[in-house]
Amino acid sequence: MELNAPFFRDRFASMRWSILTPERCVHWDGRNLTFTTGVPKSEAPREDATEELWRTYYANIFNPARVKTKAMQKEMPKRYWKNLPEAEIIPVLLEEAPARVEKMLRESDAQIARGGNYSIAQPPLTNEWEKLREAACACRACPLWKNATQTVFGEGPRHAEIMLLGEQPGDVEDRGGRAFIGPAGQLLDQALTEAGIDRAKVYVTNAVKHFKWEPRGKRRIHQTPNSRDIAACRPWLEAELGLIKPRVLVCLGSTAATTIFGLGVRVLRDRGQVRESKFATKTMITFHPSALLRAPDEGTREKQYAQFVSDLRVALDCIKTPAGNSQLEHELAFH
Ligand code: SF4
Repeated sequence: MELNAPFFRDRFASMRWSILTPERCVHWDGRNLTFTTGVPKSEAPREDATEELWRTYYANIFNPARVKTKAMQKEMPKRYWKNLPEAEIIPVLLEEAPARVEKMLRESDAQIARGGNYSIAQPPLTNEWEKLREAACACRACPLWKNATQTVFGEGPRHAEIMLLGEQPGDVEDRGGRAFIGPAGQLLDQALTEAGIDRAKVYVTNAVKHFKWEPRGKRRIHQTPNSRDIAACRPWLEAELGLIKPRVLVCLGSTAATTIFGLGVRVLRDRGQVRESKFATKTMITFHPSALLRAPDEGTREKQYAQFVSDLRVALDCIKTPAGNSQLEHELAFH
């Protein structure tokens, strides 16, 4: 008790509290810790006047987007949950968490896109990829279409097991109307071949479907899409993901990574790790090939290219394992 009391004093310094055990008790009055002899359980108060208040508070601060049941159980094994006043509402909160996260994302996207010339793309409800692409070609949800030549929708087999997600089409893609056909696309092809992946079996797409650029002399210089562009375009990506249902989703570069995982991910730190996302049970982050083309020196470029190929091999390994229940879980989670 003496060893552990300072933790609770520091953690709950602004409250008055007591911890009662049969061996020893400790009390905190906001200034001093006092230790007394233990008391039997029968002498402990049965009701806690603040429990209902605590449950209400807990339900309100419970963040469904940050639920980590394994971490919760590691911190406090399930057999002890009965001692927590909030334990009785946790299952309900967990059950409601996916729907609440979905709602939060929708509201945040709508909030980001609101104002100016922005709205949120409205893909038709269809299982036909061609209809989806056709609708995306007429999209005017954000201002990017004005300066671009055409919508560059994703492409690849309808049942592709691997989906590669980039940022936005570049200058060559904008003119050609197809994803990853410029210099970055050629480097991607080379890396895929080295990793043993047949590009014809992969679905490639971008988080934003129109080329964002600014003029510099006669050249069109790439501009990174901002959060409003990404939010406006996100429904197209979600529609593609819902249709293709890839077993492995590979985010190329930071725009793709934040589109899927939100802010806080870092390509250099998080690349190569396989984790679960809302869209695929196996989702990973790696470099965008154009970042390799922009590497500051040859040594860095070679090193990062080798890491890029190695990450793609990890993606390939992921589809060698049977889909089993994880695919089912993904489908359930996504729908
Ligand atoms: Fe529509 Fe996306 Fe093009 Fe914006 S970038 S107009 S949301 S397709």
